[in-house]
Amino acid sequence: MSALIEFQGLDKFFGSNQVLKAVDLSVQPGEVIVVLGPSGCGKSTLLRCLNGLEQAHGGHLRFAGRELLDSKTDWRQVRQDIGMVFQSYHLFPHMTVLDNILLGPLKVQRRARAEALAQAEQLLARVGLADKRDAFPRQLSGGQQQRIAIVRSLCMNPKVMLFDEVTAALDPEMVKEVLEVILDLAQGGMTMLIVTHEMAFAKAVADRIVFMDAGSILEQSHPESFFNHPASARAQQFLEKFSYVETMPKKTVNKETL
Ligand code: ADP
Ligand code: MG
Repeated sequence: MSALIEFQGLDKFFGSNQVLKAVDLSVQPGEVIVVLGPSGCGKSTLLRCLNGLEQAHGGHLRFAGRELLDSKTDWRQVRQDIGMVFQSYHLFPHMTVLDNILLGPLKVQRRARAEALAQAEQLLARVGLADKRDAFPRQLSGGQQQRIAIVRSLCMNPKVMLFDEVTAALDPEMVKEVLEVILDLAQGGMTMLIVTHEMAFAKAVADRIVFMDAGSILEQSHPESFFNHPASARAQQFLEKFSYVETMPKKTVNKETL
């Protein structure tokens, strides 16, 4: 099978700071990749290069067999195939849920309203928000807004979805409802690159874990093998930080300092 996405020797600099160092990564159609790594290691930059929000400086980046690192690339066109959802939802506050979702399909893709509307309603039902179609973003919880942001992206019929820490800004009780939507997409065969700090979710959803450190991919492995036997010392240290939270000793309170 030929790869849907291919990063090959990808370099990215911010000034003299090299934040991606000859990154190689191939993603097959239907594959779910979870990118892990310490803060600042380049995870967001990797995703942002793929939909043209950042410009890579060297190497190759192919999508569906086409080279994207080309001055002729029409990123507006490419972004219709590559949906991206961020930590903040960026819904338009003055527009209803439905109008937010239909903006891209109608204005960018110039699709017929009835057809786009039918798809929007179907997607809203899929994420459990059919009754919110006429609500405004401010009337929704963070978890509901994030699910709408996902629907808005899906309604463009992307070939791949990128998720960059989409639950990081949510209250804990809303994290699950958003992660369940992504799990559902994985089961439906959507190709995805996911950056997350939710380790149990990463283990459940990923076909492959990609571990990055300081702009390089240090390992790419099956989730079982990554979480049970990380190959690199950096990955071991990274995972220890997460397991520490679970095994954190009960704090003894010194009453005299209260
Ligand atoms: P991660 O998502 O893994 O936390 P990022 O991709 O956001 O990491 O950042 C990688 C590195 O690039 C960091 O050192 C960060 O400070 C730097 N960086 C990210 N965005 C910019 C920018 N717009 N200008 C300058 N440096 C940036
Ligand atoms: Mg980031």
